[in-house]
Amino acid sequence: MSPRLPPDASLPHPERFLATDSCVQCGLCLPHCPTYLQSRQEPDSPRGRISLIQALARGAIKADARVIEHLDGCLVCRACEDMCPSRVPYASLIDAVRSELAGNTRPAGPQPLESRVLRQFTRSRKLRRLVYAALRFWQDSGVDRWGTQFADALPAGLGRLHSLMPKLQKTPLIDMDAQTGMDSSFDEDTDKPTVQLFTGCAGEVFDRATLLSAHTVLMYLGYRVVVPEAQTCCGALPLHAGDETSAQALAQTNLAAFTPTLPILSTASGCGATLKDMVSWHGNAAAPLAHATQDICSFLLTADWSGIAWPKTDLRVAVHTPCSLRRVLHADSDVLALLARIPGVNTYEIARNDQCCGAAGRYMLDHPEMADTLVADKVADIARTAPDCVVSTNIGCSLHLQAALRRAGHEVEVVHPVTLIARLLPPLATTNDVA
Ligand code: SF4
Ligand code: SF4
Repeated sequence: MSPRLPPDASLPHPERFLATDSCVQCGLCLPHCPTYLQSRQEPDSPRGRISLIQALARGAIKADARVIEHLDGCLVCRACEDMCPSRVPYASLIDAVRSELAGNTRPAGPQPLESRVLRQFTRSRKLRRLVYAALRFWQDSGVDRWGTQFADALPAGLGRLHSLMPKLQKTPLIDMDAQTGMDSSFDEDTDKPTVQLFTGCAGEVFDRATLLSAHTVLMYLGYRVVVPEAQTCCGALPLHAGDETSAQALAQTNLAAFTPTLPILSTASGCGATLKDMVSWHGNAAAPLAHATQDICSFLLTADWSGIAWPKTDLRVAVHTPCSLRRVLHADSDVLALLARIPGVNTYEIARNDQCCGAAGRYMLDHPEMADTLVADKVADIARTAPDCVVSTNIGCSLHLQAALRRAGHEVEVVHPVTLIARLLPPLATTNDVA
């Protein structure tokens, strides 16, 4: 098919947006779009955004501040894709237009400090360790209380960051393995099956306990766990912010770090979804890595759980399902099925679990009002049903939910399912115990 887009289109590569033509404007997606449901404005709907992208690609409109605001307002939750009878690849279109607009509008010369810091944060484990140490000092010394006291006086972005900050876990970062390029015979000493753990950039700072818990649970169930040191961020943060170049560089690093013939387990479903979807944004070379990626809860469902003498427990657990787990990894029922294996753990889903909580990567920082509006329903449901804890498989959603609960005066903990499982597992029987 020859491109219908004219060569004088205002986006540099209009051919990337031909799929906008497959939208038949039926509107079936509208009642499922969280931003449309709030504003009731057509440009805040999937159909409206697709029309804007199409008009930009055809050169019919210019990317002025209002157009960019409507496109930036998308959560990339992909609820619209699920409902679309024409299978419009909405997420690819919105990522691509953000990238092209960022390329068009990015001023020449040095990038803003915030973009440079974010880029380094996703690329450098050294910087992440430094950020963790600095935040721990900030919290342990009590200086963070000033942040709370003078939150209104802080610049908007900093104040928001402060309000989302969890109490950092005093947990060491999981040990990394220098080896790369393993094959299935890597473990020469035992006959344990080998799996690889994906750590993610935010998880290394804000959720070290989940990484250690994942390691513990996998070892308990008889797996050898390899955590490749050479791995890096999945690329989601730069990709959704329109920085395709950085996302591609990160993808190259991960392709070299992991062995695609062995399972790659992600504890953050946002990272897992980005890796799983890699072919759409990095090309066919990423297919083996994408194929090897699994959410850890889905993988654990396939493990042998027999013979575990679970201690007596009685827990009511509210399950939050991130959009990435539901709409990209298609594993929304796996957390419920996994926790059902533990006697005494009673799960239920948070009301309106199919709607985005508003975290959406850095959306919760850039669009605080919409993010807080979207999480309010979930906070109200958790307050009403008073669970013993909440589980979520995505670090960003957990931080957003936990902060919103804290602001509303509810101290209920939000943890990853593997952290809950690691806490409940009985001690391993030793050889002496068995004898
Ligand atoms: S991805 Fe989500 S927020 Fe964006 S248009 Fe689709 S339904 Fe709306
Ligand atoms: S459901 Fe699909 S075809 Fe219909 S308006 Fe939405 S994006 Fe377009």
